[in-house]
Amino acid sequence: MVNWENNIAKIALPTPFAVGDVNVYVVKGDALTLIDTGLKTREAKEALDYKLGELKLKVEDIEQIVLTHHHPDHAGALDFFAEDVPLYGHKNNQRWLDGSDEFLHTCNQFFLEYADLLGIEEELKGKLTYSKKERAFYNGRKLTAFLAEGDEIPGLPNWKTIETLGHAQSHISLYRESDAVLIGGDHVIAKVSPNPIIEPPFSPGEERPKPLLQYNESLKKILNFSISKVYSGHGEEVKGVEEWVQSRMNRQHERAMQVKKMLEEKPLTGFEICKRLFPKVYRKETDLTMWETIGQLDYLEDLGEIKSEIQSSLTLFSIA
Ligand SMILES: [Zn+2]
Repeated sequence: MVNWENNIAKIALPTPFAVGDVNVYVVKGDALTLIDTGLKTREAKEALDYKLGELKLKVEDIEQIVLTHHHPDHAGALDFFAEDVPLYGHKNNQRWLDGSDEFLHTCNQFFLEYADLLGIEEELKGKLTYSKKERAFYNGRKLTAFLAEGDEIPGLPNWKTIETLGHAQSHISLYRESDAVLIGGDHVIAKVSPNPIIEPPFSPGEERPKPLLQYNESLKKILNFSISKVYSGHGEEVKGVEEWVQSRMNRQHERAMQVKKMLEEKPLTGFEICKRLFPKVYRKETDLTMWETIGQLDYLEDLGEIKSEIQSSLTLFSIA
């Protein structure tokens, strides 16, 4: 049964992904707001209708939508809502919502060139690219206005934006000062570490964002806020954020040290490290395992523990 808790109602919607249900939130304010939409599937639509019904609401009652980030399980079901429903989120959502041919092309070109440098096996390279099918989630929906660090959320007095880039280049969290509650999207998930997903640079030729470094910065950033509870994009609420952040960072550091150990034996390519880290899943989930590997390499390089150089069109990582 869906209930209100201090003007927030949590609605879990099904996804076919390993992470399980995605949580979207109805928030009462000057405008009845939905934070994230869930995935565009029949099952998710049925669940959304049913659970809004438990609150005596319908999809048509939602007066505005705020996105924590652009991933399809969070932003993929905008089509369930009328086109004139205002939509707010970080400006970096827009290139994904637009999904233009040009963007898709630049994006895939970047990933294929990057796959070459990482030494990824020929038949797995395509797994890093985006298809037109994924683009169909968004249908070119435009953000009504952008939300950046410190911005108040329109229609939700009391709520502020915290930019929490890392898992996505479009990621924000929503903070209510009056009771120190955070709606954290995929930035704070109780049981799993969000994947540091690689996105192409914002203009061609620019350096790519380093998502794990950004994520760690965004973790430290939320420690500057007093937080009583985090409503997460997946699973249960998180209390005791300080300990949670510390344990995340410790675990990630340990994994990075595992990578460093491999490189003490000999220089390796990104793909060789990925295969050693994820021997059972790297074929099936080449993209996610590769991004996780790159995250650890960015982290070690940033610490000055390792270095990389290009040798005959392959990037080789070695101990610094
Ligand atoms: Zn996500």
